This record gives sequence, structure tokens and C-alpha cells, in this order.
Amino acid sequence: MIKHSIYRFGGGATDAADAGVAGDKTLLGGKGANLAGMAAIDLPVPPGITIGTDMCAIYIAADRSFTDDFLAALTDGIGHIETATGKSFGDPSNPLLVSVRSGARVSMPGMMDTVLNLGLNDATVEGLAAASGDARFAWDSYRRFVQMYADVVLGLDHGLFEEALEIAKEDRGFADDTQMGADHWRALVGEYKAIVAAELGRDFPQDVNEQLTRAIGAVFDSWQSERARVYRRINAIPHDWGTAVNVQAMVFGNMGDTSATGVAFTRNPSTGEKAWYGEWLVNAQGEDVVAGIRTPQYLTLAARDEAGARLPSMEEAMPEVFGELGRVFDTLETHYRDMQDIEFTVERGQLWMLQTRAGKRTAPAALKIAVDMAHEGLISEEEAVARVEAQALDQLLHPSLDPAAVRDVVARGLPASPGAASGIAVFDADTAERRAGAGDRVILIRTETSPEDIHGMHAAAGILTARGGMTSHAAVVARGMGRPCVSGAGTLSIDAKAGSLKVAGRAFAEGDMLTIDGSTGEVMAGEVATVQPELSGDFGVLMGWADKVRRLGVRANAETPADCRVAREFGAEGIGLCRTEHMFFDAARIAAVREMILADDEAGRRVALAKLLPEQRADFAGIFTEMAGLPVTIRLLDPPLHEFLPHADKDFDEVAAASGVSVEKLRARAAELHEFNPMLGHRGCRLGVTYPEIYEMQARAIFEAAIDVAEGKFAADSSARHVASESPNPSHPAQAEPVEAPARAALRQAQGERGGEGIVAPIPEIMIPLVGTARELELMKTVVDDTARAVFAERGREIAYLVGTMIELPRACLMADEIAASAQFFSFGTNDLTQTTLGVSRDDAGRFLGQYVDKGIYATDPFVSIDVAGVGQLIELAAQRGRGARDGLKLGICGEHGGDPASIDFCESVGLDYVSASPYRVPIARLAAAQAALAARNRSGDGKGDK
Ligand code: ADP
Ligand code: MG
Ligand code: MG
Repeated sequence: MIKHSIYRFGGGATDAADAGVAGDKTLLGGKGANLAGMAAIDLPVPPGITIGTDMCAIYIAADRSFTDDFLAALTDGIGHIETATGKSFGDPSNPLLVSVRSGARVSMPGMMDTVLNLGLNDATVEGLAAASGDARFAWDSYRRFVQMYADVVLGLDHGLFEEALEIAKEDRGFADDTQMGADHWRALVGEYKAIVAAELGRDFPQDVNEQLTRAIGAVFDSWQSERARVYRRINAIPHDWGTAVNVQAMVFGNMGDTSATGVAFTRNPSTGEKAWYGEWLVNAQGEDVVAGIRTPQYLTLAARDEAGARLPSMEEAMPEVFGELGRVFDTLETHYRDMQDIEFTVERGQLWMLQTRAGKRTAPAALKIAVDMAHEGLISEEEAVARVEAQALDQLLHPSLDPAAVRDVVARGLPASPGAASGIAVFDADTAERRAGAGDRVILIRTETSPEDIHGMHAAAGILTARGGMTSHAAVVARGMGRPCVSGAGTLSIDAKAGSLKVAGRAFAEGDMLTIDGSTGEVMAGEVATVQPELSGDFGVLMGWADKVRRLGVRANAETPADCRVAREFGAEGIGLCRTEHMFFDAARIAAVREMILADDEAGRRVALAKLLPEQRADFAGIFTEMAGLPVTIRLLDPPLHEFLPHADKDFDEVAAASGVSVEKLRARAAELHEFNPMLGHRGCRLGVTYPEIYEMQARAIFEAAIDVAEGKFAADSSARHVASESPNPSHPAQAEPVEAPARAALRQAQGERGGEGIVAPIPEIMIPLVGTARELELMKTVVDDTARAVFAERGREIAYLVGTMIELPRACLMADEIAASAQFFSFGTNDLTQTTLGVSRDDAGRFLGQYVDKGIYATDPFVSIDVAGVGQLIELAAQRGRGARDGLKLGICGEHGGDPASIDFCESVGLDYVSASPYRVPIARLAAAQAALAARNRSGDGKGDK
């Protein structure tokens, strides 16, 4: 290492390794760490230096200037590149050219700046022409440099330069850049320099050292750019990381027909298929492939054939280099043990590696690659589990286009990011954001996207572009975000200003409905029906590995038999929250519910409750049948009663007729029930305390249903779940592959115990909501236990059950030891616990919470991810106090946080027994729970190391 955080690589230098920072992306950035890494395993990497990320903050703090010491160290670094290449920086007789490349800790595609061909000026360009024997190449390189430098360093609009190029071609009647000769490029450079002088009142800098330091400064500055900040906010990347800068000898893909440039993935980033996947261009420089200026060619013959492309693949055109590239792919996969995303350049037949990194991939690809690599022995099963982002499974669990639906296909592009999306057409990012914010689903349509579009892409349900390949900005960003994307649909004629699209003789305006299929590349008019996903074998395999690793149980929040069935098929091991209020809203029952609420006295309420009992019993029987053998946590009535009150006159008439009470009296009673702050009003167990007969009826319905199911009374029902017949129901789309979840094991075991007689008894866990004091729970538990005794006596049969409470008030957390005296389980209701701890009403938080997150008051939305510092402290305390008072107290979480991976990690760390999530999030929770277990294992390993 030279000093001042400058690390040499290539040409035999091993600075990073010598300093003990090899592979350290925090310091070297991803690009720098891997350039040094590739050089260290003897892959062909042009020599260069990496300026560490620490210099970024120093430079910014020093008013964006460099110290003399740093500049001296930089000169030494350039000396290394000169020695390694035998060229000399700024020397007209044999000029060294370099690229100045940004490289942060994580890749931020297209966000940061790079300058190529630096070191060219009016003198060195002649030297380059002479040394290469190719004047056209030299002047082409110079004009590229002037334009890039003017854009990135001097801050001039690149449109000015593109316009000048267009005019230059038009004047000569050229359609293509390739028709431009040496003299044409030379003339254009003259025009470019005139543009710079006119815009800035200063000549284009000829001093190569000035070029270099200003370019390095500009890369550091690009870390602070608006678009980089937006990207970091969306991707939760800290602003203080900074970027590294790599200065590297140029290699030239634009030296004629034996030269080329390209990008490649070692496996297909869309599907995960184990096949090289890439695009390349003959006689071009790096940016050309990504920018969509020319249509790139396919790397492999197979891909070319499949696409029916006209231009030859690299496999055909440069078989030797292609073979070498393949060997490099294998070396890199073995070395980094992951799918790699690679940039390469071929200079007159010689292959050079310019970048490698773990490739971004879609959720289906991530899944397939992880499972394949474990099968190949490249990684362990546990690593495979850790590799797939839990949240990303969401993409696999959601609908795709119904193959049977009629598709009005108007165009075809590249299948750039899979999944289907329907939405209204919008033509710019701001509109996309605005209309999505207003609740529309939008398809963002652009000729091509640029980093300025990032907020609109984020807001869009899908992205459609007219230009650009599978590695274009739109494609890469969309895959990263999990948005369906069709890129390069060349027949689209888009007028963004007018907000219109013409294609196949038809016109679409902003607001017209379109559908895109990112898996096939089809673009369709109107909305197309979707179907549930067919979960592939890999999914089941990975889930099986996850289940082996995880400690936390995973349950589902569900309250209908249909939801329960989905939950079971996704591997839920029970129900963590079955709300009972929706059952009260049912049209057939609401009259009886209202009668109950509006009754004057207990006798009146009992009459109405008697009508509800058989209905509730049937509800529970349906759920228990689906959940045979598994625990089902049922929360007794929770919401404020006024939610059930009649509003319309005819509702009042109906209740009056059913109960024999006058409409006037009912209205007076309804007015009495008005509350100023219902969330903190007469709800939860407060209802049970004042009207115990309500909870008594619900408890009775639960016990009677449980016994009915255990006795097989519902087994004849077609919806019944027979333990013996686990065959998948073909009418049900979401069918998880054979999952050897603990749930199934428990079921088999229970089945064994019952000799396979039929439906196994469920295990009701009766949950009392909104408890704040031990006495409340004690009273409610007595109601439930008394009812149980009565029902068991009547039926001559007992079943196991638990009584516990939902912990959703700070007082309950503080008093957890006393409450645990009569609670057999706690379930943290983190929605209300967050509201009551923060003193924030979730329904009203929309107006300010976004700003709170933007301003860093809360790191993330506390209703999405648990506020670990505050709410988390209460949960941890309640868990400790509760378990201190009662050994083996069962602890779970049933708020929406139960499906959020970060919150699940927290649940693991405080030792909860299970999490409960919505049915479609159950697989996410299973995977997140496994990852949390692995992380906890690593943490405890580190902990030991510290001592
Ligand atoms: P990004 O992170 O945006 O990809 P890069 O720093 O990787 O930016 O560079 C942009 C393009 O320039 C890439 O295609 C890269 O391969 C090419 N490039 C960068 N450095 C060199 C070099 N020394 N020689 C030739 N091409 C280069
Ligand atoms: Mg790159
Ligand atoms: Mg609640």
C-alpha cells in the first residue's frame, strides 16, 4: 500500500492482501475488492489502483480538495500503472490512458459516475494514433472522453454533445456511428471542444494531471448526487459509506473487428438456469452495451438461436476468446461461490476482465441458483438458505398471467424481469409516482430508463421500454426491485411529452390500461386475468432446508377455512391469530349481533347470543377441520361495539322488528354507545368484563366445535381435511411441494396416536385481548374455564385447550409476571402495542410517518418493522418477566410484523416460540426464521470469540 489509502492491483502488486484488507468491500468498494481479487487469482485484469472509501469523506470534509501528500501518493500509484503497462501518463510518444471508476460497497447500478479514456489531449491523441496504427480509433476515443468528462466532471448537458454527433452524421448522410472515419471524429472533437469553451468560457483541460484529480473528485462528488441519495434511501444504504475510486489502465474494445466489449452472467439471472448468459458488441467501448445505442449481440449460439437474432454470437465470431471466457466464468464461480455478473473487453483478441460481482437476480433465479449450487456442492444447504432473500419469495407467491386468458398482444420485447403486471400507462417517472401515490397501478413506459427515473420505477407495477437489452438500466434495476419489466420493445413509438404511445397501428394515452408479461416479453392492451403460482420443486427443497434450520415455529393469521387451507399448504404449523369479529359482520348474523348490542340487559343479550351460538360453532368447526391436530389461537371479541351498530334507517327497522324494541329506543341506545376514542374505549376484554355472556358464548362455540370435530361429526363434509388423504386438491392452485415441515410431522405423530381414525382434535388456544391487569385476565379465564367444564360435562368428553392473552398494552408488558399467573401463553399483538407504545394511531399516521422515516426519526416504518429500540424493549421485558413467573410460558407474535424478516430476526433474538403471518407470507416467515437462526448462531459464535 502506498499511503493515504491507495491500493495497487495487477502487474504483480498485492497491496490489499499485504495490508490485510483483501476482499474488504467496506474499504475497497465492491469493484475494487474484486478487481484485486481477480488479479490475485491470475485472471487478466488491467493494472490499476483503488482509492479507499475513507478518502471520500476526507475529500468532502476538506471542502472537496486533496492534500499534497495524497497527490504525491497518487503520482506513485500512476507510476505503478505506467511500469506495469510500459506506457506513460501524458506522454505523447506512448500515452497511458486510464479509466476513473466509482465503486461503492454495494453496487448501485448507473447511480455513480465513470470516465473512460482519461489522459487524452491534443498531443496524446496523435501518439495513440501512431502507437495503435489506427487514427480512427484514437479520435473515436478522444471524442468519447471529451463528452464523458464534460458530462461527469464539467457538469455540461450530454444532450449538447449527442446533438452535435447527430448533426455530424446527418450532414454526411450516415445512419450509424461506425460509418464515421478518423477525420470525421477529429472534426467532431473540434466541435466538442468549442461547445465546452462556449459553455464554460474555458478551454477543455489539456493537463492530464488536472484531468485525473478532477475526475477523482467528480466520482467522490457523485456519491452526494441527488439520484444517488434517492437510490440509497430506497435501498436503505447509509449515506456515510462513501465510494471508492478505481483508476485503471484502459483496454480498448473499439480497436476494430478483433476487439469487443461485453457483459455476462455465469448463470441466467432471470431464470437461474445454469447457462452462460450475456451480450456483447464488436468494436465498441463498455458503455455502449448498457446504453442501448446499438443492439447488442448474444454471447452464446444457443441464446442467439433461441432469439432468432441476425448478428453472430461471440461463440461463433470469436471462438477462442469465447472458450477462454468460459474458463474464466468457471474459475470465478468456484472462487466466489456465487453467480457472477461480469464486464469484459477484448482488445485485438486479448481478453481482459474489468469487473465481477455477485449478480443481481430475480427471485425465481435466486431460488434455483441457491438450490443448484448446494446440489453441485459449491455451497452448503445452510448457505443456500441464507442466500435467498426471504422478502423476495413474495414474487414467487404471486399471480402470473392466466395461460387461458385472451391476450391482445400489441408488441413484443425482451423478457427482462419476470412476473405480470397490469396498470395504466404513464410516460414519465413523476407521473408514475404521483398516480401510484393516488392508488393507481401504473406501467411506466419510457424509450429507455435512466437513473433519474428511479423513483418512478419504484412506484410502478411494471416497466416497459422501447430500447435496451437484458442488461440495460431498465432491466437491471427492475430485476433488483422485483418489478416485472419488458425492455427493448422496438415497435413502440413513444411520445413522452404528449403522453402517448403508438404501436401496431393503435394509439394509447396516459391512463389507458396495459398489461406486460416480463417472463415472455409480451405487451398487451387491457387487463389480462392472472392465476396463482405453481410452486416448483426447488421451492419445496429450499423450504425443507429452512425448516431443518429454524427454531421459531411459524403460524398463520387466518379466520376462514379457505385461508386456513392456504396457510397449511404454505406450511403453517397452526393459527396464531383467528379474529372472531368478521364472523359477526356476516350479513346473515349482523341483525342478531345488533340485537345483542342494543339489548338493555343481560337477559336480552342472551336471547340474541343464543342465535349466534350455532353460527359461531360452525365457523370454528370449519377452521378446526382444516387445522386438525394443530394449535389454533382464537381471539375473543375485540373491536368497540359501535362498529357493529346500524347506520341506515332500514337497519334500525330490521333490528326493531327482530327484537321487538322501538326504533326510538334503539337510536337512543346507539347514541349512548358513541365513543370519543374507540381505540382506547370499550373494547377488548373490557367487553368481556362488562358483558361476560359474550365471551361465554364464544367459548362455548369453540369447545362444542372442537369436540364435534374430534368426534368426526364434520368428517363427512366435503371440505373436511382427512389426515389419511393428504392428496393435493387440484382445484386449489397454490400447492407447496412436499414440505416436511414440523407441522406435517406433528400431524403424522398425532395421526399415529389416534390410529389414523380421521380428523385429529384441534388444540384451541383461547386468547383474551387488550389485557392490562392480571385481574382482567383472571376474570376472563374463569368465564372460559367454567364454560369448558360445563361443555365437557354435557358432552362427556374433554379436550386440551389453553387460555392466554394478547399482549398489546405497555402496562401488560410491565406487569407480565402477574399476568402470567393466569396466562398459559402470551401473543404479542404488535400492531396495537406499537400504537399504544408510540402513542401513534396507525390509521392517522399516514400524514406524517413518511416524513418521520425520511428525516430519520424512525429508521423504518414502525408498523412494518418492529421498533426494536422501543417496542422491542417492552417485548423483551414482558418475555423475561412472563417466563420468570411461569416456566415454559408459550410466546408468540401475531401482529403484521410476524411476516417481516427484520422483525422475525428480532423475535428469534428474544427467544419467542413462534411467529404468525398472513397465509401468503408463511413461506417468507419460514425462510426468515431459518435465516434468523443462522444469524443468531453466527452472533453467538462471534460473542465467544470476543471473550
Ligand atoms: P459501472 O459501475 O457503471 O458499470 P464501470 O466503472 O464499471 O461503471 O465502467 C463503465 C464501463 O466502462 C463498463 O462497461 C466497463 O467495463 C468500462 N470500463 C471501465 N474501465 C475500463 C477500462 N480500464 N478499460 C476498458 N473499459 C473500461
Ligand atoms: Mg461496471
Ligand atoms: Mg389489538
